[in-house]
Amino acid sequence: MSCNPAIGGTAKGHLVREIDALGGEMGKIADATGIQFKMLNTSKGPAVWSPRSQNDREWYSKEAQRRVVHQNNLDVIEDSVAEIIVKLNTLKGIRTFLRHEISCGAMVLCAGTFLNGLMHTGEKNRVGGRFGEAPALGVTESLRSLGFSSGRLKTGTPPRIDLNSIDLSKTEIQNSDNPPIPFSYHNEKILNRLIPMYLTYTNPATHNILEKGFDRSPLFTGRIKGVGPRYCPSIEDKIFRFADRDRHQIFLEPEGYDTNVVYVNGFSTSLPEEIQFEGIRSIVGLENSKMIRPGYAVEYDYFPPHQLRHTLETKIVAGLFLAGQINGTSGYEEAAGQGLIAGINAALKIQKRNPFVVQRSEGYIGVMIDDLINKSTDEPYRMFTSRAEYRLLLRQDNADRRLMRAGFELGLIAQEMIERLDEKENIVEETIRYLQSTTISPAKINPLLESKNESPILENDLLSKIIRRTNIGVWDVAQVVEIENIKTNLLRADVGQQVEIDMKYEGYIRRQNEQILRFAKFEEYIIPEHFDYTLISSLSTEGKEKLHKIRPRSIGQASRISGVTNSDISVLSIFLKQLEGR
Ligand SMILES: Cc1cc2nc3c(=O)[nH]c(=O)nc-3n(C[C@H](O)[C@H](O)[C@H](O)COP(=O)(O)OP(=O)(O)OC[C@H]3O[C@@H](n4cnc5c(N)ncnc54)[C@H](O)[C@@H]3O)c2cc1C
Repeated sequence: MSCNPAIGGTAKGHLVREIDALGGEMGKIADATGIQFKMLNTSKGPAVWSPRSQNDREWYSKEAQRRVVHQNNLDVIEDSVAEIIVKLNTLKGIRTFLRHEISCGAMVLCAGTFLNGLMHTGEKNRVGGRFGEAPALGVTESLRSLGFSSGRLKTGTPPRIDLNSIDLSKTEIQNSDNPPIPFSYHNEKILNRLIPMYLTYTNPATHNILEKGFDRSPLFTGRIKGVGPRYCPSIEDKIFRFADRDRHQIFLEPEGYDTNVVYVNGFSTSLPEEIQFEGIRSIVGLENSKMIRPGYAVEYDYFPPHQLRHTLETKIVAGLFLAGQINGTSGYEEAAGQGLIAGINAALKIQKRNPFVVQRSEGYIGVMIDDLINKSTDEPYRMFTSRAEYRLLLRQDNADRRLMRAGFELGLIAQEMIERLDEKENIVEETIRYLQSTTISPAKINPLLESKNESPILENDLLSKIIRRTNIGVWDVAQVVEIENIKTNLLRADVGQQVEIDMKYEGYIRRQNEQILRFAKFEEYIIPEHFDYTLISSLSTEGKEKLHKIRPRSIGQASRISGVTNSDISVLSIFLKQLEGR
């Protein structure tokens, strides 16, 4: 946890659920070490509900390492990779700084913010991948010499302050959901002690103080060359870009049970240390606070992701996979999603099995990787629910129904989990069938409808229609259902929610499924791997250049590349049809 001691959040929580459904570790570690849990956006529709946890940073890291060292058939070697050995565009192995050579047929390189990392605080800078850690040297140069292009990005982190120096009585308490909903489908409940977070705000005085330091900010003086995350801006960026706002939220997040370190969420900065300190002390509740460590920004090399296939194997070097921040993303969850896909495909390659790709219609992991490849990125990419076109299908609550069977096929999910999923699917189906075929009389349902401000019915009506009403939920219907096992099904948290969403949004879900089918034929319309786009003179210049650079697998993928127009797609389709003699 280089930055925030938290997992999940809007759209990121969806990624964690998907990682878990595919057999990844993140959700289990977050559940084991969580100190606060919240389901975000519950006032909005189910597509955007997202789980988030605060975690004990030390414990999270120990739990992650414990799981790594207890993994069967895994050797752990600690050393720095200095060079990647490649022959005839095929990976052969790596050479470390201690001059050890390790040969391998596949590797996943996930160097994070470390490649030629440079950290900035005010006018001071020092080399490093993150606080207290050296940068990784040599890897960028090794990859560039093989023909890869690289770029420079930056990210930042806020100062940490001492919990004992905060006047908590002046802040707003933010309590955990209780009982918390676990991230992992493997866990039924969370028994950890839950602790609160605290909310305060910046004010005009804070903004004036910080502005004083702008002329020494590496962001504004041009010392930082890398592009930062637009959606997770530094406090100086926020003050500069939203000059009309006179306050910004600051969440004070304790980093664990047994530590006085507090993460000042919302105050990411690389301003000079003394300006950070003065700014922090102008915030209500923080007037006497002690700064344990100043915030800083880090600049690092990344490799624009159009150089990857959907398996995250590079197009230039067979066997070399890249995952995480090195691909231009930002965030633990985005990194974990890619790590899992790259890891799975590296293993499948060695086992000579077919690759595994999550489609855009199957998961946010698929949306992210497809976006990275087709749109590449010149600013840190983070996940948003708005990036997915089939949002109502890709919910955080149904990741198991979408992906767990694939995890099982890959050998990452236990038989017992699939049996549980099968049982749940059967119960959901049985309950929906019952609701769709059972009517209820006005006498039995009208008192409930009236108590919920819903208009009464005049004659018998189907329960499936009743449940579609805005103010009616499964819990309400459960009260009037006479069959005991259906009542129990509706009240079962994992089943009731699926039934309610499947019924209430039936029309939307059907339309999205139809759309997927309509677009599927374009995804299956394959473009030959080494197709020469210069053969088609009527393609736009930009279209030709992008198609040549990204080399899409299918017409579907080609249509999502930014810069490729609809007319490029029709010209290309007609040409390919003629070529195939269709
Ligand atoms: C200062 C800072 C601020 C951040 N702020 C945010 C934020 O606001 N929001 C957000 O979502 N994310 C933020 N992040 C990003 C988040 O930490 C990353 O997105 C995430 O950790 C990336 O995961 P990763 O696995 O790609 O790389 P990392 O977690 O960085 O891990 C890379 C690992 O590779 C190792 N390594 C690197 N090079 C070599 C080598 N040559 N040989 C051997 N080992 C090597 C490193 O030691 C490290 O353990 C921030 C990160 C930093 C450092």
